[in-house]
Amino acid sequence: MDLQAQESKYIINTYNRQPQATPLLMRGEGPYVWDDTGKRYLDFVSGLGVNSFGHCHPQVVEAVNSQLKQLMHASNLYYTEPQIRLAERIVSHSCADKVFFCNSGAEANEAAIKLARKYGKIKKANDAHEIITAKRSFHGRTLAAITATGQPKYHKGFEPMVAGFRYGEFNDLESFARLITDKTCAILVEPVQGEGGVYPAEADFLKGLRTLCDDHGLLLIFDEVQCGMGRTGKLFAYENYGVEPDVFTLAKALGGGLPIGVMAAKGEAADILVPGDHASTFGGNPVACAAANAVFTIVTAKGFLEHVAEMGNYFAQKLCELPREKVVDLRSLGLMLGLEINGDGAQVTKLCQENGLLINCIGGKILRFLPPLIVNKEQIDEAAKILQNALTYA
Ligand SMILES: *Cc1c(COP(=O)(O)O)cnc(C)c1O
Repeated sequence: MDLQAQESKYIINTYNRQPQATPLLMRGEGPYVWDDTGKRYLDFVSGLGVNSFGHCHPQVVEAVNSQLKQLMHASNLYYTEPQIRLAERIVSHSCADKVFFCNSGAEANEAAIKLARKYGKIKKANDAHEIITAKRSFHGRTLAAITATGQPKYHKGFEPMVAGFRYGEFNDLESFARLITDKTCAILVEPVQGEGGVYPAEADFLKGLRTLCDDHGLLLIFDEVQCGMGRTGKLFAYENYGVEPDVFTLAKALGGGLPIGVMAAKGEAADILVPGDHASTFGGNPVACAAANAVFTIVTAKGFLEHVAEMGNYFAQKLCELPREKVVDLRSLGLMLGLEINGDGAQVTKLCQENGLLINCIGGKILRFLPPLIVNKEQIDEAAKILQNALTYA
């Protein structure tokens, strides 16, 4: 039995991979990956926004290698160097004052939800514990994170959900304002909705949420798991809007391919959790933190974020040149792009893959592009050509 066929025998079927159609990826370098037949793909999925600096970035590989030989893991009962250095870098490059380390986006949001509840208990009357999130959002798959996720299809079969979540319309300030009660403790949104179909927030919406939170004593929490770490052309997406959250979460691209998550908090919010309140065995693991430190060096290098913004504009312009009758809408911020098409998105994705381009399709109609941030114009041209062909035949 070949390896792909064994998958469905041994792995619980949560991913819908197909032995005939889904590549077995063996190797990656920069923006490219290769499958077991030696076929090369231009990777505009980037591990769903994880491989933002390309596959096996030499600086990340070097940092991981050297840390691996020195100390692979230590309990958070003790200090470790890469963790403290990384915390200092996140704090010095953001609005945050302190961070908590974990291993994934869902865990980072879980920490933010716990922080918000405790904030409500300490700082507000009436046992305020309700959190308002957005419809069409995505915050991860743990029970609280999936409850925060404003998409009923992800709740189905796992009820009862966690108590205390309410859902407003994204980019509709009034609908959030209406949901605030004396039981509310926080508002949680993605500055750019990713899994929901790539919907950037409007500046007035985020500014309005900031004002609502200030007026009502609520924490404003931004989920930057997908849109953070340079993806939008700024280190953190909130910088595009001139709005600072009280808490934000990171994961995906932060470790350059290794699992790591962060909850970062500012001001009062940074001092809510105390010893015993929260913990993670692997959180702040030295190897993952060494990788993230290398990522920070790359993303903060002179000119890097300007390159992301420039490539984002260039790619958006290329997408605008696609046949008009095929395109319903194009939404983007930096190198996070969603193309809503008139046609069969799954078929387009399949044709692109056959022709050496990996892209992702949301809900059958929205093509999502998360190219590596190191992508150049030639590679964008190559992708646009493959895409145009696929759109013509799908
Ligand atoms: C992917 C994602 C998550 C979940 O991250 P995991 O690492 O899969 O738990 C949470 N929020 C957003 C915005 C995401 O895109």
